[in-house]
Amino acid sequence: MNVHTIFTGIANTHLVESERGIVVIDAGMPRQARRIVNAIRALGHSPQDVRLILLTHGHIDHAGSAVALKRLTDAPIALHRADARLTATRDLKIPPGRNARTDGVGRTIAKFGWAVPLETFTPDVWLEDGQSLRDFGFAARVVHTPGHTAGSISVALEDGAVFVGDAILNLLHVSFPLFWEDAAAARESACRIRSLQPRVCYSGHGRAFDLNALDAFVADHCRLPSRRNRSTIKSIRQNCLSIGALDSSRCISFGSKTLSPRSSSPLYRRSSLRCSSYDLSISKNTSSRRLGDTSSSI
Ligand SMILES: [Zn+2]
Ligand SMILES: [Zn+2]
Repeated sequence: MNVHTIFTGIANTHLVESERGIVVIDAGMPRQARRIVNAIRALGHSPQDVRLILLTHGHIDHAGSAVALKRLTDAPIALHRADARLTATRDLKIPPGRNARTDGVGRTIAKFGWAVPLETFTPDVWLEDGQSLRDFGFAARVVHTPGHTAGSISVALEDGAVFVGDAILNLLHVSFPLFWEDAAAARESACRIRSLQPRVCYSGHGRAFDLNALDAFVADHCRLPSRRNRSTIKSIRQNCLSIGALDSSRCISFGSKTLSPRSSSPLYRRSSLRCSSYDLSISKNTSSRRLGDTSSSI
């Protein structure tokens, strides 16, 4: 799949091109639909080749031209349900700032929201964690990465590219979002994105960055698995797959010594309700801890 990034006002719009058409990731500010369609035509496609308009979240700089783009392409709009509240009304919504300075900037910008109202909509497709996008010709899955907004999602392509929306920015450097609804969730989401071991991350703002840049950023925030634990993760994942409890997009969270990674017991299967490789943790006394905390237990 080929990725083409265009700047649409404030944020990036990514055109992901496969043999089955184009998926548009984020639709930019209002009045950007023509620009996006022109870029699609420049790639040799017609607007009707767009299979999906996928929004990483509901802010105006990503959803502003979604409705206009839908009119031009007939493609459905996809969004996580938790962000539908953001696209249901025209007013500008900016979460609290990451610090006092960005909070002040956000409050100032919000005063001028009336100048660029959002064209409201109800999404056609609801995105959720783990969802495959193959029905849209897209070898990718959705990863829920809340924090910036409750409904923020990332998109992980099978080729190792991950579109992170505003979960991680790369303006002057790789960083957390400037604004967030839930700081703790945003930190968790950054670690979850790291756990995907992306080959390249495409942010909603700034240039794409690789795993080394991501590692340098998350080192202070996430406990990265040791080399030994990475191989354990790999072997457990393979075992997950072999017992048929999970698909490749899922991992497993299992009770420590009562369960073996090779177990195919119902308890083991039940315990596999949630997990990414980041969530790969040993639950003791119902508390789930990061892998890095539990290296000696594995
Ligand atoms: Zn945003
Ligand atoms: Zn943004």
